[in-house]
Amino acid sequence: MRRTIIYTVNLTRNYQVGDQVLPVLRETNFSVRQGEFVALMGASGSGKSTLLGLLGLLDRATSGEYWLEGLAVFTLTQNELSALRGKRIGFIFQNFNLLPRLSAWENVALPLSYQNGNYSQEEQRQRAKEALARVGLNHRLDHYPMKLSGGERQRVTIARALITNPAVILADEPTGNLDSRRGEEIMRLLRELHQDGSTIVMVTHDTSIAGYANRICTMRDGVLSEN
Ligand code: ADP
Ligand code: MG
Repeated sequence: MRRTIIYTVNLTRNYQVGDQVLPVLRETNFSVRQGEFVALMGASGSGKSTLLGLLGLLDRATSGEYWLEGLAVFTLTQNELSALRGKRIGFIFQNFNLLPRLSAWENVALPLSYQNGNYSQEEQRQRAKEALARVGLNHRLDHYPMKLSGGERQRVTIARALITNPAVILADEPTGNLDSRRGEEIMRLLRELHQDGSTIVMVTHDTSIAGYANRICTMRDGVLSEN
């Protein structure tokens, strides 16, 4: 049996809006094993990004437990969460989130530079080069984001997500800003990473995109169910 990477118990997220409590994620029990590729589907506003933000340690649950690789995330301080996020989570966003003044390789190496200066500039460049080679962009090391196409920018963010060898890659609508051809190229790349052993949780509202995953879950009004 593959080891459990993500495990939640009654994970709940409420937002306070004025004097109203808005339940956005309701008592969610969700687990992901190593090597799974899970698609989270559901209508806009159903709570997909909220769940992904909790799993990615960007946000804290109102109640419930989250265990990441056996670690009790819900007991950690804010600083411990940030450090863990940098080491164990790889994020891919719809709008790429690349820094415009950094070259492709500098963007990819960024997660390494947050890790207590353990890596020399030369090591960072080498690791970034290897990550960019995995996404087919070894010829774009010194290009700035402005000079890259949308599909290439998304490849750079995937390389950035890979560089720390994270426990899980979390992708929020990774093809949302791409035309269908570039979107399929990105999905083929994610499928390759999955075949190479990466664990992936991806949010999408597109059935054909979800078809690349090996497990599909659906959110409805903050309630998660397996398809
Ligand atoms: P999805 O990604 O499925 O479209 P979200 O997780 O972004 O859904 O949002 C779920 C619900 O939570 C929506 O109704 C949204 O308006 C609400 N919501 C999200 N963030 C906040 C916030 N910071 N404050 C209040 N409500 C929020
Ligand atoms: Mg969303």
